Amino acid sequence: MSQLNKSIIEPTDLNIYGINSFINKFEDSKEDIINLQDLKYNFKVDFTFDEEVNQIEESPLPAFTQLTFNERIVSDTTSYSSSYNRPPLGPIEKYCYCSYCSNIAPLYHSIECSFPEKKSLFLTMEGLFYYVIQKANPEFSEKLNKLREAWFSNTITQRLLNEFLLIPNSVKIQTNQISSEIPLSNKLTTIQYFDVIILRGPTKLEYTPATQKISNAVMLSYEYTTDKISNMDEDISKKTSIRIYKNGLINLINVPKLQVKRDTLYNSLINRINMSSDAVNIENFNKEASEYTSENFDEYSIVKNASYIHSVNSQFSMWKTKDKYLINMNKLNDIISSFDSFGKIVSGRYTTISTLPKTNKQVIKLDYQTKNKKGSVYIINWEN
Ligand SMILES: [Zn+2]
Repeated sequence: MSQLNKSIIEPTDLNIYGINSFINKFEDSKEDIINLQDLKYNFKVDFTFDEEVNQIEESPLPAFTQLTFNERIVSDTTSYSSSYNRPPLGPIEKYCYCSYCSNIAPLYHSIECSFPEKKSLFLTMEGLFYYVIQKANPEFSEKLNKLREAWFSNTITQRLLNEFLLIPNSVKIQTNQISSEIPLSNKLTTIQYFDVIILRGPTKLEYTPATQKISNAVMLSYEYTTDKISNMDEDISKKTSIRIYKNGLINLINVPKLQVKRDTLYNSLINRINMSSDAVNIENFNKEASEYTSENFDEYSIVKNASYIHSVNSQFSMWKTKDKYLINMNKLNDIISSFDSFGKIVSGRYTTISTLPKTNKQVIKLDYQTKNKKGSVYIINWEN
């Protein structure tokens, strides 16, 4: 009997790998507290772009490494996307130019390039040679294959080349000119980078344009080195993503685990917001903050009662030896989240279902019992 009741579950320690927090989450705040235009131009970013040598000057960590502001601008007559990146993104893929900011490799996109992405790139004349002519196993369109054949048989005409030039005759072809004498300049073609670079499989996801993710928030990257547990550990750099909204909310994903490192981040973030020209409307800030504190502020500050860790990502194993047991996932799903014929989650032997009043969302209360204690957890989202 005692043998049968012995639990096979011996959970490992919880491994916390992500901590996410809010600064100044004022419920239902509609006040304009932070002027994002002001912030985007004036927030001090530690990594800077040196135009003279065309590269990014990095500073020691911790540091603010990147500022991005993607915005959808809507007026009565028009609507368009704008993007701002400081330092700028790049360098542009070799032998390409950007059709939005007109910069040519090895330059970076401009800071205000509206689509600083691979999708925006087209080949230069050098690129035509490098990506089209020199390509070993091409899978091109018929049009590009025709160009290749003409190149190899030295039968390129001005008329044929003009089909690929952004400005006709910007590269001159003499009669009977052999192909190797055609000048490979950085004159612009109409061949798109993605016409010649074929993406396969999951790597496609990497090229989802950043500007599709319009958030109307100033996004910052902050990099820091991990907390060493022993001197044997190497420094590993980690990244916090920060979103600043005009209603004063700051959402931080992946903040440092150690309080002291977190405080360093918070303090420098708040300082830099305050240093950013006139980005903060302090009257509106105090108006919202007054719901949470009696304190009156003369600059943007962390309001403790409205700032907290909102989620933690973690994992554990149910037993130490990896493949000791297998879980029947269907059964587990039925125990925790079984549905009735109307598609509603129903209570079970270990679970009680309740519905949140505002959203009509169903929450599962799961009861459990271990050797030492009884307890329950609320599951607000269960995916299978
Ligand atoms: Zn560009």
